[in-house]
Amino acid sequence: MPLRALFLALLSLFIAPLSLAADEDHRFDDKLVAEANRLIEKGFKDEAAYEIIESLTTEIGPRMAGSEQEARARDWAVKRLKKMGFKNIRIEPFEVDRWVRRSESAAIVSPFPQPLVITALGGSVPTPKGGVTGDVVRFESFADFLDSPLTGYEGKIIFIDETMTRSQDGSGYSVAVRKRRTTANEAAKRGAAAALIRSVGTSSHRFAHTGSTRFSAETPRVPFAALSAPDADQLARALKHGPVSVHIELDVESLGPVQSGNVIAEIPGRTDELVVIGGHLDSWDLGTGAVDDGAGVGITMAAAHLVKKMNRKPKRTIRLILWGSEEVGLVGARAYAEAHKDELDKHFIASESDFGGGKIWRISTNFAEDKLGYAAAFRHLFARFTLAEGNNQTSGGPDIIPLSAMGVPAFRLDQDGTDYFDLHHTPNDTFDKIKLEDIQQNVALWSAFIWVAANMEGDLRSDSPAEETVETQ
Ligand SMILES: [Zn+2]
Repeated sequence: MPLRALFLALLSLFIAPLSLAADEDHRFDDKLVAEANRLIEKGFKDEAAYEIIESLTTEIGPRMAGSEQEARARDWAVKRLKKMGFKNIRIEPFEVDRWVRRSESAAIVSPFPQPLVITALGGSVPTPKGGVTGDVVRFESFADFLDSPLTGYEGKIIFIDETMTRSQDGSGYSVAVRKRRTTANEAAKRGAAAALIRSVGTSSHRFAHTGSTRFSAETPRVPFAALSAPDADQLARALKHGPVSVHIELDVESLGPVQSGNVIAEIPGRTDELVVIGGHLDSWDLGTGAVDDGAGVGITMAAAHLVKKMNRKPKRTIRLILWGSEEVGLVGARAYAEAHKDELDKHFIASESDFGGGKIWRISTNFAEDKLGYAAAFRHLFARFTLAEGNNQTSGGPDIIPLSAMGVPAFRLDQDGTDYFDLHHTPNDTFDKIKLEDIQQNVALWSAFIWVAANMEGDLRSDSPAEETVETQ
């Protein structure tokens, strides 16, 4: 007997971490799980998200931050949300700097004259009338460029040829995107005439990927554009033969502040706590923003609608936010966090769908350490989908970053992004890339997540406030 007791004691030590998963303090009750399972079944048959994405990308098209089309998208959303029966529908306005692209072109002038496919990067200054021509200086990596001296590049065209790594979780992006953020300022410091980067993307198609840049107001900037991957290859090959001169013309302009807005709709709950979900309504101007982020708009609108059709008042209010002006620097997200800073303690959880239309493969959370039992409970809820276990450091999605930085617990149904950066910010981001089956899997899991988050017992913040890490930036 003592031996057996010892064995059992040892066994319980080994299974201790596993028992966390079935932690009695942090489990969802059986009724809630049964309701979530019914939503999952409905989600797999639901075609509303697919139809919403089709409608948005067809009837509105590209939705650049601060544009007339972004304004039409807000009207489109308000109309649809009303028709779907959501409550407290409103637009919360804010200002954004409007930047427009009119035309862009580039060509190798010598030694092998031929056109190059480029696209101006958001916020770039235009080239002077007649364009700029200069000899190209290529850097294999962004780090090499940052290490380069501040003189010797006067009148040159800087070319950063760094490639991006393809990955399921999109981790290659955060590395690759650095060159897009600061090259224009760094090239200006070195007296360059213009700067080019190999597109931040993983495609081999002949589309350049646009995206936002971060300009320092104090430093001058130079005209800044991205080459498609095959054109970056072509330029690198030409440079093997000796000096290469390139001509660039960018007709772009910053028009100053205009109005944008976040569209908000709710399923009112019985308490003043909030579950924030949504996607972003704006897109870049080159494609029709189907994967970025028509998909997230469609998935969360349709999932919330499935929940709404249950005709049951949830414990917490479900607040759907269709964010504005995400692409140019999370402008709508920052405006919301500022406008709602006094009620952030009522934000129970927040999550955004903004990683394309691929299937969900992993769950990530950002809960207090003493509430990780709920992360296990969510994984248990979705156990039959064999999702991977992410970390507890998710931001919850780009537009949730300001909220999670201020202590709002975040959750993310991570989508497979293996192919996402083939399309991201290119003219090729169009509705034909949306797969009904993948979107339905998203709606199924999202609707279950929303219902459980809106009705579960407990809290995702720490019981001991001293342990809470609240970052401010
Ligand atoms: Zn996006």
